[in-house]
Amino acid sequence: MAEAAIVGAGIGGIAAAIRLAVKGYEVTVFEANHTFGGKMQEFWLGDYRFDAGPSLFTLPHLVDELFTLAGRTPSDYFTYIRLDPVTHYFWPDGSRLKAYADAAQFAKEAEQQLGVPKQAVQNALAKSSRLYKGTADTFLQKSLHRLNTYLSVDVLKALSCLSDLGLISSMHKVNASQFTDPRFVQLLDRFATYNGSDPYQAPGTLNIIPHLEHNLGAFYPKGGIYAIAASLVKLAEELGVKFRYNEQVNRITTAGKRITGLETPDGIYKADVVVSNMDIVPTYRKLLPDQAAPEKTLQQPRSSSALIYYLGIKRQFPSLHLHNIFFSQDYKSEFEHIFQRKTISSDPTVYVNITSKMEAADAPAGAENWFVMVNVPYNQGQDWQQLTAHTRQVMLRKLSQMLGTEIEPLIEQEQVLDPIIIESRTSSYGGALYGSSSNNRMAAFLRHPNFSSKIKGLYFCGGSVHPGGGIPLCLLSAKIVGGLVPSASTGSKANTE
Ligand code: FAD
Repeated sequence: MAEAAIVGAGIGGIAAAIRLAVKGYEVTVFEANHTFGGKMQEFWLGDYRFDAGPSLFTLPHLVDELFTLAGRTPSDYFTYIRLDPVTHYFWPDGSRLKAYADAAQFAKEAEQQLGVPKQAVQNALAKSSRLYKGTADTFLQKSLHRLNTYLSVDVLKALSCLSDLGLISSMHKVNASQFTDPRFVQLLDRFATYNGSDPYQAPGTLNIIPHLEHNLGAFYPKGGIYAIAASLVKLAEELGVKFRYNEQVNRITTAGKRITGLETPDGIYKADVVVSNMDIVPTYRKLLPDQAAPEKTLQQPRSSSALIYYLGIKRQFPSLHLHNIFFSQDYKSEFEHIFQRKTISSDPTVYVNITSKMEAADAPAGAENWFVMVNVPYNQGQDWQQLTAHTRQVMLRKLSQMLGTEIEPLIEQEQVLDPIIIESRTSSYGGALYGSSSNNRMAAFLRHPNFSSKIKGLYFCGGSVHPGGGIPLCLLSAKIVGGLVPSASTGSKANTE
């Protein structure tokens, strides 16, 4: 039987394992940590449960289709509900807005709360939807490095959107040309952070992201985000995938231009196909040191990272919900701090995620589990101890002021995640959350392809390669790999195209 070895049990690695098992491979996943999930972890602090990494979930059908592909009923493994409202926004001037899932209701709320013409909001969401539908099939669902991608009718669809895509203008400029209210522009600009980018540099193309949340919807998985990884691992194990935990891959092995397998401290494993779910930079630097690395790709600027303060709060706040955003006064300065000065502004936007709003068991009675996140630069040698301590004070002052209650005395559990910890736990280069950023308008084409053009049988998935970071795109990277790898009966011809 043809064998496939996967390096890493992040969400992309797990999804790739399922797809290759369905294709008839005997699949082994090698994971450096004691468990699966990569950035998607859960943990308890006393009686408070936290999802450690991702908190927002879109495009759930990409999870469902893995169960369907394996002949299972998705809801036997994994269920979720659609959120409405999705996000609650708070501005320093006291204004607030509920971002309803329904476009018409959202537009009405924007008019009532911010005085933004509702027709303009609906037009912007309709445009976002049109552009997403025109481009997603080409730019997200397929390899951009295969000739046949460019020979499909989807390319014509994408080309017809080109003039509207805002490739030349920044995302911010496109938004500011459509709306005069700076608060609403800030709300739309925020979607750049969904892949760790800067709305003042990233192209207007990123304005397809609001379509995900407002037209297609945002969802909450029962049991928390970690349930996504846990349910997929259950499926993978049922399909015969073997997970080898605490076994770090040290080397991907080759003979000439063909993959032969990989090496760990425990042994040498032969494989017909190897898929690396490790970040692409250390994959080349550490696992393939003898191969010429694609330097231009590896040197693309990284996405932002995050400081997360996990707080057990011994009180409940009825004004807060699952997703809450407390905006900064000066968004431009905030992004200049992250991407140019490589530090953190003294007035950052603060995101508070509270899963106990959805699952009472995630916090003790009368309490809440706050996941408080501030976007920060990826690690470039900053003094994180100092930045973490300073940002904690800034964040607590901001939340106390905007909620009218002193927060610090309410904290009974606390833990912090910073870019250094993210890198040490997942090998994500610089602790970046989403691989390379989309600040460059050519970013989509500069991400590493999902296959090696030099070594037959070697593939790549996960947030640092095409089509990019975030749960849905990692799942799509695995889907593209699944499409590129030949079925197990012809496995030895892997990647000969
Ligand atoms: P990773 O999660 O990067 O995992 C890679 C795995 O490979 C790890 O388990 C690692 O231990 C293992 N590994 C690495 N090297 C080796 C080796 N040599 N041998 C063996 N194993 C190895 N996304 C969203 O969609 N929504 C959000 O709200 C969101 N918020 C986020 C908040 C935070 C704080 C973080 C950290 C991320 C967030 N993301 C979000 C991004 C999302 O979590 C990631 O894009 C996604 O989980 C990355 O998956 P991956 O497949 O790239 O693998």
